[in-house]
Amino acid sequence: MAPIRARTPEKTLKQHGELALIERIRLRARSTLPASRKRLVPLGIGDDCAILAPPAGSEVVVTTDFSLEGRHFTLDRHPAASIGHRVLARGLSDLAAMGAQPLSVFLSLALPRSLSLNTRWLDGFLDGLLDLARKAKAPLAGGDTSESPSGQLLLDIVALGTLPAGTALRRQGARPGDRIYVSGALGGAAAELAVVLSGKRSRQPSHPHLYPEPRLRTGWMLRERRLATACMDLSDGLSTDLAHLCRASGVAAEIMLDQLPLHPLSRRASQPERLRMALHGGEDYELLFTAPADRKLPRSLGGVPLTCIGTIVSARPKSPILTQIDNAGRRSALLPGGWEHLR
Ligand SMILES: [Mg+2]
Repeated sequence: MAPIRARTPEKTLKQHGELALIERIRLRARSTLPASRKRLVPLGIGDDCAILAPPAGSEVVVTTDFSLEGRHFTLDRHPAASIGHRVLARGLSDLAAMGAQPLSVFLSLALPRSLSLNTRWLDGFLDGLLDLARKAKAPLAGGDTSESPSGQLLLDIVALGTLPAGTALRRQGARPGDRIYVSGALGGAAAELAVVLSGKRSRQPSHPHLYPEPRLRTGWMLRERRLATACMDLSDGLSTDLAHLCRASGVAAEIMLDQLPLHPLSRRASQPERLRMALHGGEDYELLFTAPADRKLPRSLGGVPLTCIGTIVSARPKSPILTQIDNAGRRSALLPGGWEHLR
């Protein structure tokens, strides 16, 4: 397809199976490109290249994300639809972090032979991916398929977005005195992952790990209303990602532990464990941003609550980049305890 093309020699993957797979993706991907988006994506799957026509005066932002079996998901614990949803959500969350609107997405997949011929699995995977693509108005406009020589499922998503030139939300721009905010709640993905890996069925009303919601509307509105001085998405955990934002901005941060919006899914865990999931759990795909202290922020934006969790301070040579303050006022260094995926 444009450009999902067969590269695998016929010897290793029957041409019949490969072509049928590409045709299946092409037909189903059409639903992600409604007539209203044809102006921006005049040509999707079906030629050597896709053709994109971003609006005049816009910039294009691009992100790419791997999702690897055994590192980001498992075939025995994750439903096919969740794997499809999550690979796209990772890319869209990066677009949200810049305040961009999706333009189109491209998917490359290396499939083990068992899966390339398993239409039930493939349909489930495409259900998850294409449902989110339709909801986010992110047309699937091309990609590539191959048989995975290692026998592992490898997925790569390329997501392109647009925004008015010169307005992207960046990690740099936070200033001492700015307040630090997060959207939504923290630690839900880690709490649900523990359930998923235990082999129990996740019966929760929300699925922050299996089906995270990229905060596209919130990011777009933050940028449009010029509310944020710096912004990024939370993929590796607050303790890791906030340190990235601070380094990019040349500042340090103080976090009030009792202000963290802990996800209800972690409520059965002990308080220290809930905090660990919120600070280090990762994959919450919420937005982390800063705003001047005198800027009035709404309680929620794009249907998602916003919570102030701390303050940006000046970076000092011998002080930690992140400080945590507990409810008794005790201060200690918050060390990045980043996400370790499934390891
Ligand atoms: Mg990111």
